[in-house]
Amino acid sequence: MNRVVIIGGGWAGIAASISAKKAGAEVTLIEKTDLLLGLGNVGGIMRNNGRFTATEENILMGAKELFKITDDLSRHKNITFPGHNHASLYDVTKIEPEIKRFLVSMGIEILLETRATDVVVENGQLKAIILNNDDVIYGEVFIDTTGSTGPMGNCYNYGNGCAMCILRCPSYGPRVSISEKAGVKDLVGKKKDGSYGAMSGSCKLNKDSLSQEIREILDKEGVLVIPIPKEDIQLDKLNKKVCQQYALVEYAENIILLDTGHCKLMTSFYPLEKLRKIKGMENAKYEDPYSGGKGNSVRYLSLAPRDNFMKVRGLNNLFCGGEKAGLFVGHTEAITTGSLAGHNSVRYLADMELLELPNTLAVGDIISFENEMKETEEGIRDRYTFAGSTYFTRMKEKNLYTTDLSVIEEKVKSENLIGVYEKQLI
Ligand SMILES: Cc1cc2nc3c(=O)[nH]c(=O)nc-3n(C[C@H](O)[C@H](O)[C@H](O)COP(=O)(O)OP(=O)(O)OC[C@H]3O[C@@H](n4cnc5c(N)ncnc54)[C@H](O)[C@@H]3O)c2cc1C
Repeated sequence: MNRVVIIGGGWAGIAASISAKKAGAEVTLIEKTDLLLGLGNVGGIMRNNGRFTATEENILMGAKELFKITDDLSRHKNITFPGHNHASLYDVTKIEPEIKRFLVSMGIEILLETRATDVVVENGQLKAIILNNDDVIYGEVFIDTTGSTGPMGNCYNYGNGCAMCILRCPSYGPRVSISEKAGVKDLVGKKKDGSYGAMSGSCKLNKDSLSQEIREILDKEGVLVIPIPKEDIQLDKLNKKVCQQYALVEYAENIILLDTGHCKLMTSFYPLEKLRKIKGMENAKYEDPYSGGKGNSVRYLSLAPRDNFMKVRGLNNLFCGGEKAGLFVGHTEAITTGSLAGHNSVRYLADMELLELPNTLAVGDIISFENEMKETEEGIRDRYTFAGSTYFTRMKEKNLYTTDLSVIEEKVKSENLIGVYEKQLI
């Protein structure tokens, strides 16, 4: 059997499943909740800023399926909002079942409502995953894509309490770090002030709870910017949030709304009574997190030390992707790292040399840059995304950011990586 067992069904685990399956493995994907996609159920923003380039690089390398689905299900394309250009917004109310159908059609085994709670390790090799019902899942190689969010204790200790987010720990049980269970100590991300974790940076409002005028603008334009009353502006909140690409003054002085099917409110949390002072939002109601008036989920408390092949250091057959693999923010970042982890897990099975993506491509550069930076006290306080902040600045400086498709194709071609994820290896 050439079985790859992937734990965590967010964007990273999904991307890893696809690339491992295409490379020829039998794939089992384990997810603790009743939904795939994890935080992707409440996100939606794609292709903004450097994510455009990274998306096209992935597509050319053969990791194309998830971008096709997100493009096809985009409610708005090529939109601009403060600090962000050429963004697409996928419909969060439609994306999850479509992704699930696609994975099923590929023959990927999906175990929902199944939580990994422990591991079996022998001689530096992971042998099996133990589930909450005591069942044991054996495999030849494993990928930890359990993310970095929560669980509740962390949201209490480092945030404003459990905000009742999409991961629903009270119902489905806490996140478990597979790499740490296997004996590899997790790294912990910090905020700028040195305290641990970071708070998620946006909420979803029920669109029907907003005025007809707001809904119409959102349906037509995809974006709406409304100034916040002076007495309610809180600049210090920007330092707490995960998404440093949105830590811009415009996001403190205004309510920025995006149409992702629900209405995406671009702030970590906003007291309901204050929100309801704003014209058209008198009846506003949170969809995610339910306690969006008080707080949001806390992330980046559980990062596996890894190499640039996405293999966890200290174990032979455990790979990682997404937020579990570093201080990465975003769906595109999770798909990028997850696709490489899935592909390399099969190279490992086939006894082949593992693939490292070159730093002439944004997708390779972000993986090695994040790995280097998180070794430093300054770097562990930062976040890494193609969409803004430190890494997008670096992309521009290194000439890695472009929207010119022929330039991107030429770069991927010159690295001999066209279609690399399409090849069956075993
Ligand atoms: C509110 C919010 C809005 C966002 N908006 C955007 C956006 O618009 N655009 C963008 O690009 N990014 C956005 N992000 C960031 C982005 O969603 C994440 O960085 C990315 O999706 C992380 O994917 P992941 O697969 O690494 O982790 P996750 O999505 O956290 O997935 C991990 C999965 O593992 C499961 N799991 C954990 N432990 C276990 C276990 N023991 N057994 C089985 N399963 C387990 C979890 O249930 C979860 O489904 C947003 C994040 C949040 C919180």
